[in-house]
Amino acid sequence: DNGLSEADPEVRAIIDMEKQRQFKSLELIASENFTYRAVMEAVGSCLTNKYSEGLPGKRYYGGNEHIDELETLCQRRALDAFHLDGKKWGVNVQPLSGSPANFEVYTAILKPHDRLMGLDLSHGGHLSHGFMTPKRRVSGTSIYFESMSYRLNESTGLVDYDKLEEMADRFKPKLIIAGASAYPRDFDYPRMRKIADSVGAFLMMDMAHISGLVAASVLANPFDYCDIVTTTTHKSLRGPRGGMIFFKKDTVLGVDLETAINNAVFPGLQGGPHNHTIGGLAVCLKYAQSPEFKAYQNQVVSNCRALASRLTELGYKLVSGGSDNHLVLVDLRPLGIDGARVEKILDMASITLNKNSVPVPLDLTPAIFDEIGDKSAVVPGGIRIGSPAMTTRGFTEKEFIAVADYIHEGVLITIDAKRTASGSKLQDFMKFVASPEFSLKDRVSDLQRRVE
Ligand code: PLP
Repeated sequence: DNGLSEADPEVRAIIDMEKQRQFKSLELIASENFTYRAVMEAVGSCLTNKYSEGLPGKRYYGGNEHIDELETLCQRRALDAFHLDGKKWGVNVQPLSGSPANFEVYTAILKPHDRLMGLDLSHGGHLSHGFMTPKRRVSGTSIYFESMSYRLNESTGLVDYDKLEEMADRFKPKLIIAGASAYPRDFDYPRMRKIADSVGAFLMMDMAHISGLVAASVLANPFDYCDIVTTTTHKSLRGPRGGMIFFKKDTVLGVDLETAINNAVFPGLQGGPHNHTIGGLAVCLKYAQSPEFKAYQNQVVSNCRALASRLTELGYKLVSGGSDNHLVLVDLRPLGIDGARVEKILDMASITLNKNSVPVPLDLTPAIFDEIGDKSAVVPGGIRIGSPAMTTRGFTEKEFIAVADYIHEGVLITIDAKRTASGSKLQDFMKFVASPEFSLKDRVSDLQRRVE
């Protein structure tokens, strides 16, 4: 059996180029990280060959004695990493990723068309939390359940808990979801618990973005207040791509959470678990209990603060005015440019981050998202910048201040480029900057040289 270089030089070459790209660029996408070499070894192992439908000790296939040991170890480490008492909390480590984990929870505790409330997509929430517009049901969550999103207060950039309470009182959801993809602050779990209790709803936290920070106790602990906590494993937690569902070992609102969630994962929505991922996750969760991991997570937050304060010094408007976690959200609208154009110019200079919507008034939100794939959703007004990946690469506050300065240079180039580009359409701009006539190429190349 040949190695990859001999068996498939084409795929080998693509992997090598991607590796180069990852190591040459400033990776600032808030949901990304560089996992450990040991995790990659486990993910690339023979564990991928084995079928093991079911749970440890209760499998539908033979030959699972080692897989049982692995999954049990992974479960134990997951509970330990989040400081949980195994008598009160259980965990399922089989979800294939974050979106499936969330849908498995909904399947477990809700009936089709039951009501739920998550943070609005345009205000930092995730699609799997049920975003919809008057014209479109965008995600499976909004197709199979009835969803009404809560939002931020647009002037403070913070979750509007008063409004959430008022809306929940009218909408009477069965589930309230905390958690976000682009929210630079922590959640007020005691307040959300109170709101959930006042309407008889479950409270779930999707801590995908911040699970590393939670494990290191850098942010508030959602387990003290929530019935269920879901997460991806590949963001701040720094593991392989995957998901986990933590549940109270209790009957809540008439549902035995352990049975319902385990059944929703398999046979409800999944077949055989990805044992190679579970192997990698077990390794990551061992790291997550080390003093080095705690120091890393503290550095992630300090770096993000340094980035936020430098950007503020440079005159940028940050959503919520700063950051308590691993990401900042920059509102570019006062500069007359948008996130898509800045993302493109920075990409050309090997700085990788993503365009992101900034909180827009309710009446504009449907217009933006009804145009998905057309125009508006592709030109949101801001950019999201995250610190986990470059902190893994050893960056400290000093380097993150330099990162802010590089981004600023890219923004200035974008402003000039937008002025020079003929026509106002995003597509024209993209074509123009990629064309030989793009006169600011030297400035972009100069920035790229310094970044790399
Ligand atoms: N939940 C949140 C809060 C996320 O930010 C994301 C992804 O970015 C997900 C869930 C979905 O995870 P996945 O892409 O692994 O399905």
